[in-house]
Amino acid sequence: MSHHEAAESDVSHFIRDIIREDLATGKHTRIATRFPPEPNGYLHIGHAKSICLNFGMALEFGGTCNLRMDDTNPTKENVEYVESIQRDVRWLGFDWGDRLFFASDYFGKLYNYAEDLIRMGKAYVCSLSAEEIREYRGTLTEPGKNSPYRDRSVEENLDLFRRMRAGEFEDGSMVLRAKIDMASSNITMRDPTLYRIRRAHHHRTGDAWCMYPMYDFAHGLSDALEGITHSLCTLEFENNRPLYDWFVSQVEVPSRPRQIEFARLELTYTVMSKRKLLRLVEEGLVSGWDDPRMPTIAGMRRRGFTPASLRNFSERIGVAKRNSTVDVAMLEHALREDLNATTPRVMAVLDPIRVVIENYPEGQFEELEAPYHPEDPAMGSRKVPFSRELYIEREDFMEDPPKKFFRLAPGREVRLRYAYYITCKEVVKDAEGRIIELICTYDPASRGGTADGRKVKATLHWVSAPHAIPAEVRLYDRLFTVPDPEGDKDKDFTAFLNPESLKTIVGYVEPALSNAAPEYRVQFERIGYFVADQLDTRPNKPVFNRIIGLRDTWAKVASKEE
Ligand code: ATP
Ligand code: MG
Repeated sequence: MSHHEAAESDVSHFIRDIIREDLATGKHTRIATRFPPEPNGYLHIGHAKSICLNFGMALEFGGTCNLRMDDTNPTKENVEYVESIQRDVRWLGFDWGDRLFFASDYFGKLYNYAEDLIRMGKAYVCSLSAEEIREYRGTLTEPGKNSPYRDRSVEENLDLFRRMRAGEFEDGSMVLRAKIDMASSNITMRDPTLYRIRRAHHHRTGDAWCMYPMYDFAHGLSDALEGITHSLCTLEFENNRPLYDWFVSQVEVPSRPRQIEFARLELTYTVMSKRKLLRLVEEGLVSGWDDPRMPTIAGMRRRGFTPASLRNFSERIGVAKRNSTVDVAMLEHALREDLNATTPRVMAVLDPIRVVIENYPEGQFEELEAPYHPEDPAMGSRKVPFSRELYIEREDFMEDPPKKFFRLAPGREVRLRYAYYITCKEVVKDAEGRIIELICTYDPASRGGTADGRKVKATLHWVSAPHAIPAEVRLYDRLFTVPDPEGDKDKDFTAFLNPESLKTIVGYVEPALSNAAPEYRVQFERIGYFVADQLDTRPNKPVFNRIIGLRDTWAKVASKEE
């Protein structure tokens, strides 16, 4: 998708068209969708796309969207994940009302459906080993072979299945399979497994079951039990659609949902599979699922992303039938756009150099009124202390400036934002020749940052040294150095981790930020967007995470290299 197409937020998509059509023809009078995560990890930005689509369609057409945990695989699932999923969906701005469901709530019904299939002669207990089942399945070019257990009688199957449930057989000794077609060109239809024996403790059903339904069997029937009209899933399930339809057409269910596949979101400079994210967490390569560099919703929240920026991004990338990778710059653009409009602007100095205003009386200070946002008076203003000793950014001074450098230099006058004009008189160095201090003068007539008729070419941010609050500042950057960390067959994706993705420094922020609430977002003028860390910030000991710079420095680097 090109940036141009993506910029139009109201472009329709094929799923919206299908739903419109189904309402117009009267096929449905009410739309019901669901978001069905497996609670085996934290949600990521790809899930956000699915959440925005499922909840978005329900909202747009006055329908409902269920949140359903697809918890059929107890060995990988747990309550921490169940809770994080709810927190993340809610944070994104969506509400499932009283419709939080669990596939495990349907285990009893699913079991009965399985017995129905056995009674209809459409399912059988198969005693082949897992390996034999694989061999019998055939390949894309060769048909499969019937299992020798395929023609067991209904009575024998019912008896075996009930004893499977009762715990009479060992894990892996037999499975229940649908009796469909071992010669089908679609391998998914070659007598798929419905139940496997697995003695695993389930986070909700405990030890009530020693066998669990397979995803394909549980998923479609759960949709049908919930009266879902449009079951939206990602493209890799396209081959499973005939099986989905087979299940919901064989047994007595209250509704016949339609499965529709769409392209999954892939993003540059990140990895998205839960298995890989789990590795990053388990190997300690990040601080946890909510590490601000992770593409998880929890991580992005901690990084300072806004829910609106994720929703806007999801809308813009659209919904397509073909997989493609989206440039992370699009996500960052949506983020900057929202932050630019919604965050107050304040001053912080991250790499300070001391400025002494020699004609400003010692011990004196004053407070200057500074608006929080130049275009939004509703954000109000705060008072910024000014005194004889200030900090400015080290890179805003050059002793011997090249032609194009307009900031502070010996003999040069610049404006301090919301304060005064200052002129550099003298440079003080330590024994090693490093600049430690600038002696300046200020013009008392330039209060507020204007002086009649006199123009300066630069406006610098600053803080008052005795008033500034030291803050831990975590400078986050992209987690990987290459657009496609999974693209090299010979190297593990962890080989491309960005060693500079986190630098922690001490910066100096204006006193208005000393008690910044967790998740309070600001723009540090001329530097970037920052957020008070959700977990670690404390009164008088603020901790700020860099959300993102003001501009895309990576694009600049890339174009320089060309
Ligand atoms: P992963 O492949 O990252 O482990 P998953 O598909 O196994 O994810 P689920 O918990 O099963 O994770 O996904 C819940 C829902 O989110 C599914 O409907 C799935 O299709 C959708 N989803 C998962 N990843 C993406 C993605 N990258 N883009 C869009 N939708 C996604
Ligand atoms: Mg899945």
